[in-house]
Amino acid sequence: MSQVFDLLIVGGGVSGSALLYLAARYTDLQHVGMLEKYAAPARVNSLHSNNSQTLHCGDIETNYSLEKALKVQRAARMVENYATAQPDIDHLIFRYSKMVLGVGDRECGQLRARFETLSPHYPGLRLLEPRDIARIEPAVAYSGGSARHDEIIALGSEGEYTAVNFEALARSFVRQAQRCQGKQIDVGYNQQVRHIKRQGELFIVESGTTSFQARSIVVCAGGHSLKLAHDLGYGHHFSVLPVAGSYYFTPQVLRGKVYTVQNDKLPFAAIHGDPDVMVPGKTRWGPTALVLPVLERYNWDTLKDFMRVFRFDRQVWDVLYDLLKVPDIRNYMLKNFLFEVPVLRRALFLKDARKIVPDLRYRDLKFAHHVGGIRPQLIDKDNRKLMMGEAKIDTGVGAVFNMTPSPGATCCLENAEVDMRKIAGYLGARVDEEGFARELLVDDKRHEVEDLPAHFISGDAAA
Ligand SMILES: Cc1cc2nc3c(=O)[nH]c(=O)nc-3n(C[C@H](O)[C@H](O)[C@H](O)COP(=O)(O)OP(=O)(O)OC[C@H]3O[C@@H](n4cnc5c(N)ncnc54)[C@H](O)[C@@H]3O)c2cc1C
Repeated sequence: MSQVFDLLIVGGGVSGSALLYLAARYTDLQHVGMLEKYAAPARVNSLHSNNSQTLHCGDIETNYSLEKALKVQRAARMVENYATAQPDIDHLIFRYSKMVLGVGDRECGQLRARFETLSPHYPGLRLLEPRDIARIEPAVAYSGGSARHDEIIALGSEGEYTAVNFEALARSFVRQAQRCQGKQIDVGYNQQVRHIKRQGELFIVESGTTSFQARSIVVCAGGHSLKLAHDLGYGHHFSVLPVAGSYYFTPQVLRGKVYTVQNDKLPFAAIHGDPDVMVPGKTRWGPTALVLPVLERYNWDTLKDFMRVFRFDRQVWDVLYDLLKVPDIRNYMLKNFLFEVPVLRRALFLKDARKIVPDLRYRDLKFAHHVGGIRPQLIDKDNRKLMMGEAKIDTGVGAVFNMTPSPGATCCLENAEVDMRKIAGYLGARVDEEGFARELLVDDKRHEVEDLPAHFISGDAAA
């Protein structure tokens, strides 16, 4: 890699790779690069085993407002439009039935009301009565050979694209970006960026061995993004709370994705069960949500990185104290801590999973070792709150920093679109709007991307 980059992306997960693809294909930027600390793309949260592989469309995520649901729907369609046009579509995107299950009077009422609100916008969405659930997911509707006794209802669809291998998607973005003719697209692996500074009009991006120069940078390095933003003097009013997710496997009892109704106070708490696109013959359950002092799951070397961005002080303590004051959150945190204790964790988790499949047995459950990633949730110290969903720090001077917990993988192209436009605007580059709309939005122009506030955006989270 040499010369000055027009755009240099840090982090080769699905977010960074999506931006590499958009910049290469739809802008006239001549020299675009991406630096990734590992030897291949998507080894952290976008790795196939580290997330739930769900293409979130907003219809079965009960914690999304209608506005948020439609925004996510647009983002999901972009991923679908990209993946279904690729020659290796069968490795990228998958069709399974999906539903969100309501159990008991309150949840069933909530789902009926939600169906009224959402169905005009989701033509494939159905209100599923127990007999429909029994046809699609018999193990959910029956217990001990007869219909389960508790009241159930579901919202769901069949035959839609609902799962994505986000690791394979990231690799596909990189491959397709490198095929773009007439420009220089450089990807550097084993390049851990240690420091970014500004020198005149340029950014100097330093890895252990090399120093790169760029006219603009976008950092998509998960929780590490905040550390690099702090280096450059931005985002000091944010701290990060890493929330790890673990999973369990059982023999295959579900045919598709079965989510449960979310608790409003804990938007990523409700577990689901679904097929794992890379592990045939099993059902995967989870994720749990455990606060851990690392930026990458199963990588204790990132403890020191966490300490640098956590910056524990009175304001962080206030946010944590506010969270722990809420009994639902306190009990949930304790339960998720116990979810990590061998023996105990299986019994506890079984109770939650039986809400979906009542006949699930203790001996069926196996903790999935080395499966699951970290959601880097931001703490907004000034406003004394824990941020849900994706967050962006836009410096306004050609440097953008992304932190992307769920549904960040679904939103990879939409998020990259926002960054592509910001960087193109900053550098005075041209965006091929016609090509972009034709290939990625296809016939979906109903929900134009919002004009996002200059310095910060955030959304709601889902598991
Ligand atoms: C348990 C769990 C379940 C989830 N389920 C879903 C789901 O079903 N659907 C969904 O849409 N989203 C889901 N998500 C969220 C999704 O996984 C993330 O939003 C997405 O993978 C983020 O992609 P990314 O590229 O921003 O980050 P990552 O995939 O974490 O990539 C960051 C990259 O930056 C690199 N990097 C870090 N530091 C440096 C550095 N200093 N220099 C160079 N490179 C660096 C890393 O090596 C990594 O490759 C889930 C997340 C978790 C944890």
